Amino acid sequence: MAAPRTRTRHRERHGAERAGWLRAAVLGANDGLVSTSSLVIGVAASGASGSAILTAGLAGLTAGALSMAAGEYVSVSAQADVEHADRAQEKAELASTPAAELDELTGIYERRGLPPALARQVAEALTERDALAAHLRDELGHNEQNRARPLQASAASASSFAVGALVPFLGMAAPPGSTRLTLIVVVTVIGLAVAGALGARTAGTPLARPTLRVVVGGCAAMAVTALVGALVHTAGV
Ligand SMILES: [Zn+2]
Repeated sequence: MAAPRTRTRHRERHGAERAGWLRAAVLGANDGLVSTSSLVIGVAASGASGSAILTAGLAGLTAGALSMAAGEYVSVSAQADVEHADRAQEKAELASTPAAELDELTGIYERRGLPPALARQVAEALTERDALAAHLRDELGHNEQNRARPLQASAASASSFAVGALVPFLGMAAPPGSTRLTLIVVVTVIGLAVAGALGARTAGTPLARPTLRVVVGGCAAMAVTALVGALVHTAGV
């Protein structure tokens, strides 16, 4: 039975290898779901009209998606700036002190377990091939999979937020009143379960616990905003 096991091992993929933007997309959808459903439920619980609820939902979707886009762009750009500066500094050091850089690389491979002579040989070979790439990868941990891409991250966050935020609108199809509120809650809980399961799959972890966390967290958010809406209604604001 050695052959099928080998094949399985070759197909095996690890969570860390998956692109960061995929995880960001699942988180964005989750955000869109929770914030928009909570917003809509809070406004509905205050006794607002159907058009007011719809307006609140659409405003929430737009504001949330744009805020996600801007926030993600700023934070990933800062990360890209750091990578850029690291690269420039490494390039300058390689040009000014190549011998010290070779020693540095040798030390890195020694600490990873290579005997000194072999570490030296590996460092020399990789330096000859592409010194900058070797230092960026083995000294600073940069690699192509986790490189900061501000525009891609920004677009993924905004669109995934919008996709998540559209789910509660499915509940708006029901007639006004408690049926509509119930349907919004039901479609949101289904959406949360899907987002939780997708998030767990993306991370390569078991499904049950992360899914439950996402559903319980989302329900708590909806309950609190419903309470706030109901208090506003009672106060007659
Ligand atoms: Zn270096």
